[in-house]
Amino acid sequence: MMAKILDGKEIAAKVRKEVSDAVLVLKKNNAKPGLATIIVGDDPASKVYVRNKNKSANELGIESFQYNLENNISEEELLNLIRKLNNNVEVDGILVQLPLPKHINTESVIDAIRPDKDVDGFNVFNAGNLYLNKKGIIPCTPLGCIIMLHTLNLSLKGLHAVIIGRSAIVGKPISQLLLKENCTVTVVHSHTKNIKNFIKQADIVIAAVGIANYVKGDWVKQGSIIIDVGINRITIDGKTKLVGDVDFEEVIKKASVISPVPGGVGPMTITCLLMNTVIQCAKHNNINLNNYFNF
Ligand code: NAP
Repeated sequence: MMAKILDGKEIAAKVRKEVSDAVLVLKKNNAKPGLATIIVGDDPASKVYVRNKNKSANELGIESFQYNLENNISEEELLNLIRKLNNNVEVDGILVQLPLPKHINTESVIDAIRPDKDVDGFNVFNAGNLYLNKKGIIPCTPLGCIIMLHTLNLSLKGLHAVIIGRSAIVGKPISQLLLKENCTVTVVHSHTKNIKNFIKQADIVIAAVGIANYVKGDWVKQGSIIIDVGINRITIDGKTKLVGDVDFEEVIKKASVISPVPGGVGPMTITCLLMNTVIQCAKHNNINLNNYFNF
């Protein structure tokens, strides 16, 4: 039987509908969610990402405050802007687009964001809360993966999840979230020996490695669930194509569920950023959104 395709666009559309409904509730209570985005320099890919984030925010009724800073801005100037935004009541979320230029210490910048405005969930406070199983802001891509898994209406308890990649923004937070789901979690990385043997045992594979078509059909167990986080640009016959970390054509024949690239995890990431912003706005204004976002 062919695998079910986990349609990230469709799931993201449902979450976005809830985000826009929640925005209406906030506005009825005289609160307006605001997202500040900061981009340093003119990396074309970063510009596209930030433009999409601002556009999506505006579509859902979230006000965006955009800061496009020169590549040679000093770390202190950037920190001053973040301090100003930390104290600005119109701003509920602050996003600093990565990567930053080499002369700026990324960790210092991310950790300068007030934890309750850190809608990317990258700073030390939110990472610590996730690690300790306490409430905090969850990074957007890992959160998107978990929401996608929840739509399967399947108990994840006791399933063996193998995560390929251990980055602070994807692999590690996903491992924490899956532990919370009572999965048995294995994290593999570039130093792991016999990676295929681990992947072969997995009920769930989360691929966040950054290598095009890395996971092959004969690596995965029959009936496994595959979430492909990867975004890789490859060129075939002079044409650029977006592919994931999973060899989709091969793996779809073995998996029971697979997320495609594009149209899988990608659309969930921006959506979760907007959801995090709206939730923080509700918290900043003591507004109850308990009827929303129970994914
Ligand atoms: P990253 O920081 O480069 O981390 C990659 C991880 O993969 C590292 O832990 C690395 O191991 C591991 N790795 C590298 N080569 C390996 C190999 N040959 N075998 C096994 N593991 C290997 O990347 P990231 O930021 O986590 O992103 C991962 C992928 O997800 C990228 O394609 C990125 O574009 C994509 N992404 C997508 C979204 C989305 O919205 N869909 C969001 C973020 C990222 P070491 O730790 O040992 O170096």
